[in-house]
Amino acid sequence: MNKRLIAFQEILNKQPLQFYKGEKQISEYFAENVFTLDKMRKYLSEDTYEKVKESIDKGVPIDRKIASEVAEAMKSWAMSKGVTHYTHWFQPLNGETAEKHDAFMEWAGEGKVIEKFSGNQLAQQEPDASSFPSGGIRNTFEARGYTAWDPTSPAFIIDGTLCIPSIFVSYTGETLDYKTPLLRSLHILDKAATEVCQYFDKNITKVYATLGWEQEYFLIDAAYYNARYDIQQSGRTLFGHAPAKGQQLEDHYWGSIPERVSAFMKDFEYECHLLGIPVKTRHNEVAPAQFECAPIFEEVSVAVDHNVLLMDVMEKVAIRHGFRVLFHEKPFAGVNGSGKHNNWSLATNTGKNLLSPGKTPKTNLQFLTFFVNVIKAVHDYADLLRASIASASNDHRLGANEAPPAIMSVFIGKYLSDVLDELEKNVPVGKMSPEEKTALKLGIGKIPEILLDNTDRNRTSPFAFTGNKFEFRAVGSSANCGNAMMVLNLIVAKTLMEFKKEVDTLIDKGQDKDEAIFQVIKKYITASKKIRFEGNGYSEEWKKEAKKRGLNNFTSTPEALKVYHDKKIKKLFEECHILTEREIEARHEIQLETYIKKVQIESRVMAEMVYNTIIPAALKYQNKLVETVKGLREIYSGVNIGVSGNSEENDNLIAPHLEIVKEISERVNVLRKAAIDMTEERKKANAIDNIEERAFAYCEKVKPYFDTIRYHADKLELIVADEYWPLPKYSEMLNLR
Ligand code: ADP
Ligand code: MG
Repeated sequence: MNKRLIAFQEILNKQPLQFYKGEKQISEYFAENVFTLDKMRKYLSEDTYEKVKESIDKGVPIDRKIASEVAEAMKSWAMSKGVTHYTHWFQPLNGETAEKHDAFMEWAGEGKVIEKFSGNQLAQQEPDASSFPSGGIRNTFEARGYTAWDPTSPAFIIDGTLCIPSIFVSYTGETLDYKTPLLRSLHILDKAATEVCQYFDKNITKVYATLGWEQEYFLIDAAYYNARYDIQQSGRTLFGHAPAKGQQLEDHYWGSIPERVSAFMKDFEYECHLLGIPVKTRHNEVAPAQFECAPIFEEVSVAVDHNVLLMDVMEKVAIRHGFRVLFHEKPFAGVNGSGKHNNWSLATNTGKNLLSPGKTPKTNLQFLTFFVNVIKAVHDYADLLRASIASASNDHRLGANEAPPAIMSVFIGKYLSDVLDELEKNVPVGKMSPEEKTALKLGIGKIPEILLDNTDRNRTSPFAFTGNKFEFRAVGSSANCGNAMMVLNLIVAKTLMEFKKEVDTLIDKGQDKDEAIFQVIKKYITASKKIRFEGNGYSEEWKKEAKKRGLNNFTSTPEALKVYHDKKIKKLFEECHILTEREIEARHEIQLETYIKKVQIESRVMAEMVYNTIIPAALKYQNKLVETVKGLREIYSGVNIGVSGNSEENDNLIAPHLEIVKEISERVNVLRKAAIDMTEERKKANAIDNIEERAFAYCEKVKPYFDTIRYHADKLELIVADEYWPLPKYSEMLNLR
């Protein structure tokens, strides 16, 4: 029997796994495996506790004495929960999380060991960095790197190991992870936003960026996964004909969740809750076998850690339930892809959401200030934002079924569009009369607090305002969203700094504060107008319109990444102390390298499957047909059984079989040729020294063969008899039961 049929049998026998759940409420076990502030307070002296808290709040470095006390406390707590090992847990640029476990163990003499964990071990580790991507940094400098404890994110326990969230830098200080620049971007955003807040409210001394991600994913049966080499190797199906019934009936979205899936969800949510990940929402998504989960939002860097951790937990728990979770942006052609919507906002130490319209003209002027600054930031740095979400896998999603296009634009809804248009029209140039000022304030005072209804509707925008936050929807489901968040924080911070400078200049020239703010807001509204788009982002008209407006539509990763050559971009990163020029170049190189590898792997897998799976299946069936034809000829020979009674009739009866035999031969021929030619193109591409040119070669010369190969392979799937086809079909994989 072929693999597909074996898998099919296995799944038919599957029962939902009984998941372990006590009778407890979530609040009773939430964050049980996290060294929270609350636990720290119990294990630390008051003085040390305050210092750690200060470090978290203000970014003050922790000295070694304090680190030693914290290490001792962490160890005691962890050991009380049966933990034996610890690890620095970090996010290198390969997109995975990394951990290397060490036991709390040291010699105690006389052949015995004791449990030990020092402040130094907590604060720093020196892993061999040479196997993590460094974008050439490791060639020029030393291979060593070190990980350093990040006290802003709490330590947690997984599987008997204490995990210490850390940053990862090269021995010479270059950053080699997603976390470090993210933390830096949060720091400058805090500074820039707090300074602007001072115009409105002196009590605001800290601004936090907040993030609530929505994680989409597909689930398939592990048995099918095991029968699909393409999914195993590349995370997506490289072959597979669209099913007769896909998502066209729209009967999956928010539908009832199959029992086996529900058991999986409850189980992974439980594990997440133990880890302090505030997962709150679960539902079916649009495509069959597609689902989504979302947490309560948190401060950005913790939210990013939690997302990475969640993906890890989900993968493990899925296997336990006989599933595989697919985070790829486009695991199935022709049905919806998966994204990771990043809901982003700014919160103050006074408990205000800066992107929430307020009750008074004053709070609404504050709201408009931040609102317009974000729009201006996206306008000024649209290409950088596009680059921040670029990956080989997201290329398949952007601009395809039900996903935002690769063109960056901002959707704000009719109400706020009107407000901005009015402001642009009504704010006078130069000095304002008291009447004009009053009229303006009255106008903005009318903005209702809750705008949700008219702003949450446009699902086609890559960057939409949804009432009290922006939703960056172009982020890919498999991505570490720390990268996109870092860029968003950075560009908003930079824009706010410029804004403050311009307002202060006007104030110095004698304008009053509100007047100056109105003037600069007006200026920014005008300057950023072309990024605002309220229409259907999926439409062809928008592509044309965007082109007219001068907005870029970078549909491939190598193209999107070109922005890193831009002097303005390098300067932005350097000036804001997020990344040095060398680090940007290294990151550019890593992203190109990753792109090349992904396309290369897919190309190899395709060729292998053409030879090892698809052609053999087609030939086997063809052989069967050939035997049939031979047999038919034999029994028909000399006997006229056609209706009209002549021998031509006999040939007609055999013809349909021969047609299929012929079609198989033709398609096999095309497949073989395309696989050979594609391999040739790969060889040529591999010989190109310049990494960017190589990436373009993979994109423009190698990848186009995927379509040809897939087209013919899928046609074969349609004509080859079911029992001969060895790859689980879309209709089977997408039909969870
Ligand atoms: P939906 O998109 O399904 O209507 P919401 O938009 O209300 O749901 O919430 C989606 C995500 O946005 C959740 O993770 C939620 O916590 C998050 N979110 C809500 N408010 C904020 C905020 N101020 N900052 C960041 N994320 C937020
Ligand atoms: Mg939302």
